[in-house]
Amino acid sequence: MLPLHNHNYVSTLFTEVLIIISFAELENVEKFAVKQKEIPIPKPNEVLVSTKFVGVCGSDLHVYLGSHPKVKPPAILGHECTGVILNGNHHFPANVPVAINPLIGCGTCEHCQMDQTNICLSRTVIGFQKEGGLSQVIAVPRENILPLSKDFSLRTGILYEPLGVVIHAAKLANLNSHQDVIITGAGTIGLLTGIYIRDKFNVNVSFIEINQKRIDLALSLGFSVYTKVEDLILCSNHRPIFFECTGNIELLKSLLSYKPAAAEIIIVSTFHKEHEIPVFSLLPYEISVKGSQMYTKQDLKQAIDILSTKKRSLYEAIVMEDDYGYHEVNDAYESTIKNTQARVKAIINMSKGE
Ligand SMILES: [Zn+2]
Ligand SMILES: [Zn+2]
Repeated sequence: MLPLHNHNYVSTLFTEVLIIISFAELENVEKFAVKQKEIPIPKPNEVLVSTKFVGVCGSDLHVYLGSHPKVKPPAILGHECTGVILNGNHHFPANVPVAINPLIGCGTCEHCQMDQTNICLSRTVIGFQKEGGLSQVIAVPRENILPLSKDFSLRTGILYEPLGVVIHAAKLANLNSHQDVIITGAGTIGLLTGIYIRDKFNVNVSFIEINQKRIDLALSLGFSVYTKVEDLILCSNHRPIFFECTGNIELLKSLLSYKPAAAEIIIVSTFHKEHEIPVFSLLPYEISVKGSQMYTKQDLKQAIDILSTKKRSLYEAIVMEDDYGYHEVNDAYESTIKNTQARVKAIINMSKGE
């Protein structure tokens, strides 16, 4: 048996020598366990990626807590993942830094034909149905590899995935520079939305948030924060645009009755079951409510382009200063759920704890 850092053996010998890798598996609800297994053997359309950093996402927390409707333990999570190519080929040489596009569409439906794998109902997701970045080495379809430049930060660069969500949601809004933007929820997606929208459209952005640590973080980033929708003070008399990033149905309903009436409400959060919304309240002011679903490959590439520039520092401010090792995934999840840190985004460093 060879430990993983004998990478050189992989390209030539991995069919002949038993290489053992470690992975952190969500074994059961609220319980990760570190295990070992043989290195995966890539299919002809796949490459092996040595994972370096993995982000903890809100949807991962639902799986962890057992409240995700589709994904249940056991699972190897980690859909926000950066790493390097392990077995080089003519498409991707070894050691090229990469990010993973987790969405694998069916490839045949009308949405996949139009590069909208985000709304393919038969899609699978790396890190949910297919094993994700919490394994030291994963086999990834070639078309799901997003190459990065040599100086791209693999660590804070894991924000490419949630920023892809934000870029996609922002494209759905018909935003003009006179409108106020109000974001409900100052977690990772809410804060990234605020940072992106303020930078790109130069509009006034406010937050609705009740958690004190998140309020402090949003204030430190220069945003106005209110604990109740009724308390909002707008800068313009144009109708505002809301981005709903909490998944709280009562909060969504309160946005529908806000005056001046919303021009648009973009739902970026995840609702795991059906709720009734008061349809009549949409009519008098023709309020438009739009659902947003993940991202296209193009959105992820745009996120990577932004994080490749000096603007990265705007976004890094939400990332926790200390990484967790892959033996500490439970701690990373618990600190995110309990908001124990000043910042919201936890990162697992897959090289820490070898
Ligand atoms: Zn995510
Ligand atoms: Zn499809």
